[in-house]
Amino acid sequence: MTVTAPDRSIILFGAPGSRAKIDTPALVLDLDAFEHNVALMAETCRRAGIGLRPHAKTHKCSTIAKRQIAAGALGIGCATIDEAEVMVAAGLPGVLITSPLVTAGKIARLARLVEAGGDVMVVADHPANVAALDQAIGATGRTLRVLVDLDLGHHRTGVGTVADGVRLAREIASWKALRFAGVQAYAGHLQHIADHAERLARTRAADALVADLVAELKAEDLAPAIVTGAGTGTHRINAAGSPFTELQAGSYIVMDAEYGGIEYAPGESWPFRPALSVAVAVTSANVPGSVTTDGGTKAFALNGPRPRVASGPLAGAAYEFSGDEHGRVSLPEGTATPALGTVLECTVPHCDPTIAHFDAIHCVRGDRLVDVWPVDARGRRA
Ligand code: PLP
Ligand code: MN
Repeated sequence: MTVTAPDRSIILFGAPGSRAKIDTPALVLDLDAFEHNVALMAETCRRAGIGLRPHAKTHKCSTIAKRQIAAGALGIGCATIDEAEVMVAAGLPGVLITSPLVTAGKIARLARLVEAGGDVMVVADHPANVAALDQAIGATGRTLRVLVDLDLGHHRTGVGTVADGVRLAREIASWKALRFAGVQAYAGHLQHIADHAERLARTRAADALVADLVAELKAEDLAPAIVTGAGTGTHRINAAGSPFTELQAGSYIVMDAEYGGIEYAPGESWPFRPALSVAVAVTSANVPGSVTTDGGTKAFALNGPRPRVASGPLAGAAYEFSGDEHGRVSLPEGTATPALGTVLECTVPHCDPTIAHFDAIHCVRGDRLVDVWPVDARGRRA
């Protein structure tokens, strides 16, 4: 007898119906909250007169990227060549790769995207990388827009000084197949500062460095068309009074426990709503005081606060990981032990790496499953 695995497309991308038909573990997206978030960030940027190029690293989902563009975004950020290939193939415009691509394999893949007519840009932080980009893109007969990546103190990527930034911009402009397109300055180390006053002060100090580079570039006749940066944590600070022409926020679409745990602004709570949860099911209930679930370290990100049960009679109950495929929920005093198979929707510790565990996003409105979106840019194709 031959046993064939069920068609994944039926499991993952099945027809709409009752919310109860979502099997576990699964990502569940509250569409009303998600749509509120997408519209609110678009409106915030429009009012401030600043562009929005939301980062697709959060969702890795071309369906969501298209919704962000439909709401007015001028393009999409991608952290990897893998994400960029999927977004370009899905027809998304203004794809900015926000990490330098330096290996021969990735540069060749970038060149293929450019050759195929993809609307794509990349950042760089070193002259050797710029030379390699020119060589690969030159062979396609096309040109590539390159942005200077500026380090604001995160020490992840970027040139370390304004002088190096100007030198690199000049270098980019000097190559035949490259066009100097602007500056990226992303302060990843400032996004989650819990205290708003400190986040504000340190963001303004970082802004001063960006403004310096922009001024020096203008003085050299290299005025940057694009000055891009900021995440969800500093989006409002950077929307006005900063040298940016556009914001790169990503997490705002669904929020997570990490962002939920920091101060938005004095006396104000976050205007973006938590829109995502991970649904797990009770799989064993033989230990007094707790139950085992089917969501372990392969269902949640580990670099954020622990999940909690988000809704229902066990709302707020603490979650522990009990292995790769298992979790443990502590039953609060006085709560009944849930039956086997009971679905518990849990908070998301850190949205990006949680979403990257799953092939599909189950979209719900109230108790209806209304759509299932593939997380089509997940995984690595190297
Ligand atoms: N831009 C870059 C370069 C990033 O690495 C990230 C996230 O890590 C973002 C933008 C989006 O930030 P957030 O998800 O905090 O909004
Ligand atoms: Mn993140």
